[in-house]
Amino acid sequence: MNVQLLSKLHALGINECHLRACKLLEYEECKNLVRSENDMFGRVQRMSPTALSCWHKLKRAAAKDSIELLLVSAFRSIDYQCELITRKLKKGEDLSTILKVNAIPGFSEHHTGQALDLNTTECCPLSEEFELTSAFDWLQENASHYKFSMSFPRNNIRGMVYEPWHWTCQIRP
Ligand SMILES: [Zn+2]
Repeated sequence: MNVQLLSKLHALGINECHLRACKLLEYEECKNLVRSENDMFGRVQRMSPTALSCWHKLKRAAAKDSIELLLVSAFRSIDYQCELITRKLKKGEDLSTILKVNAIPGFSEHHTGQALDLNTTECCPLSEEFELTSAFDWLQENASHYKFSMSFPRNNIRGMVYEPWHWTCQIRP
């Protein structure tokens, strides 16, 4: 890990203990990003060109089966991940609780430009209820044909909470 990242982590209160306990992999930030459609909140989103091409195919195939897949979030920089954690700390949330939900900056799959958070019309974004939607059933059945897989199933080995909305394109750019 480079010194720059380490000092950003220390500024958040993330220390060697947190890093040792972290079962996530460290990722480089994707440098080759392309713009996708805006997300469900109208924000600009970017991802790797490979992920974009797979996402378009996935979304089109879902639409053919009357499933509407919506983008919630794609690429996130290390700095943005720091910001998310800072915001929660300022609200008084406990760091170890935050780290069950938010990856340590440098360890988020969203840095790769390959990970997408998805939603559908009848569900609150980033909520476990997503698993009850027909969109989730469809993804479980079909996402692998479009090279997407769910990264954090229930009781995953990475120690993250269950994230039925988080799908990653497996074709590396
Ligand atoms: Zn995610």
